[in-house]
Amino acid sequence: MSVRISNTLTRTKDELQPANGSGTFGMYCCGPTVYGPSHIGNFRTFLAQDVLRRTLECAGIKVKHVRNITDVDDKTIRESRNKGMSLRQFTSGWEDKFHKDCDALNMLRPQVEPRPTEHIKEQLDMISTLVDKGHAYPVSDGSVYFRISSFPQYGELSGLDKSGLSTQSVNSAGEVNTADEYERDNVSDFALWKGRKPEDGENFWKSPWGEGRPGWHIECSAMARKYLGDSFDLHGGGVDLCFPHHENEIAQSFCTTGVVPARYWFHSAHLMVEGAKMSKKLGNLYTLDDLVAKGYTPMQVRYALISGHYRQQLNFTFKGLDDAKSALLKLRKFADAALKKAGVDKKEFVATVAPGAKFEGTRFEPAWNALCDDLNVPKALGEIFAAASKVDECANRADLSAFGALMYALGLDIFADASEASEDGQVPAEILQLAKERFEARKAGDYARADLIRAKISEAGWTVFDKKDGFDVKRR
Ligand code: AMP
Ligand code: ZN
Repeated sequence: MSVRISNTLTRTKDELQPANGSGTFGMYCCGPTVYGPSHIGNFRTFLAQDVLRRTLECAGIKVKHVRNITDVDDKTIRESRNKGMSLRQFTSGWEDKFHKDCDALNMLRPQVEPRPTEHIKEQLDMISTLVDKGHAYPVSDGSVYFRISSFPQYGELSGLDKSGLSTQSVNSAGEVNTADEYERDNVSDFALWKGRKPEDGENFWKSPWGEGRPGWHIECSAMARKYLGDSFDLHGGGVDLCFPHHENEIAQSFCTTGVVPARYWFHSAHLMVEGAKMSKKLGNLYTLDDLVAKGYTPMQVRYALISGHYRQQLNFTFKGLDDAKSALLKLRKFADAALKKAGVDKKEFVATVAPGAKFEGTRFEPAWNALCDDLNVPKALGEIFAAASKVDECANRADLSAFGALMYALGLDIFADASEASEDGQVPAEILQLAKERFEARKAGDYARADLIRAKISEAGWTVFDKKDGFDVKRR
């Protein structure tokens, strides 16, 4: 069964196939801006991409996954300066935190995670080409703008009504618009390069147009091009990125290389919390740590965040998290019972859980078909539970392998320990011991050893969280 997704660019459901002849599917996803912890809305999007990648792997397609770490923009500069830290020092702390959360949520690491501050040359090369070709122009403050009117296809991805588009970056009062915190209203020519301002502090680089820093949009175009080529397969992000970010990426990439950068555009709808938009003001902007502090496990959070269809808004609720908890417990119990009945040793089975399993002819084929059909996770889960309700019928190698592969596709780590007690949060003694050793290693400043122990704990299906004067251990 081939994997199809709704392609924002073609507005049709398209079959995903690698095009570049190498047999590898190139996938670029816009990553986090590292100025604070990512929230569960961000993770909804990153998890949809993780499930897509895992599903492709289950379909036998090799994936090269690139996801950038935005480490320079208005917010990272402002916050690092407020804290009196260098940009690198500041963003690397949040980058580590992002990775820890991703690991806890059982997300596969992209093969490449490039940072724009380390790709200034690639961005400047692209801007120079755009200036040479007449698609971009410098202004007096040292900034360089992309001329939207030079690209007639601008707006095709998002179906933008261009009649209201202002093509001037300098307004009638002579003010240059330099905001790069993305706002829908900002539809004028956009900054490729931003001339140095006093509030940038030490964060500037040399360019043919004077000192400054890259604008936000150019980083993705330049780094996707470097790691995946002028034309790659899929580009993904939350729906808010469709316009203007992805529209701008297409414009600057096409005008540089002459080809549309990606053939498939994968956008996931936003996460709402208890029916409302997430915001700091409403106090409903949750991070993974917030939910763990309330007693939920990262695996329960993962389940809740992937359980809706990626194209529909997901209403995140605490009831949904409680449901995720019982759903995971059901899956664990099913796996235990079916393995026992089939006389298959669990450890041996877990070692064989792999994306390569066959689904055809198994009880789990309908679930796999649902996943292939526009990544319909809710339908797939419904089919999994329908099959799992008949343990006797699934107690054989073929069905168990298909079930294992589906758990891989969804990233649901349910095999680590099937006991009800562990789902309820009771931590096995040996895991606690490891966590204590890790805490001591951290106290002694031996971070390499602490990281090694963390990896061991993670392998066993648990995640350790640092607290002010101790630690917390949770099921993944
Ligand atoms: P940022 O760190 O703000 O650059 O965003 C990282 C990713 O999260 C982007 O793909 C955004 O589109 C996505 N995103 C931001 N807010 C939400 C939300 N409420 N629901 C789903 N995805 C979101
Ligand atoms: Zn991007």
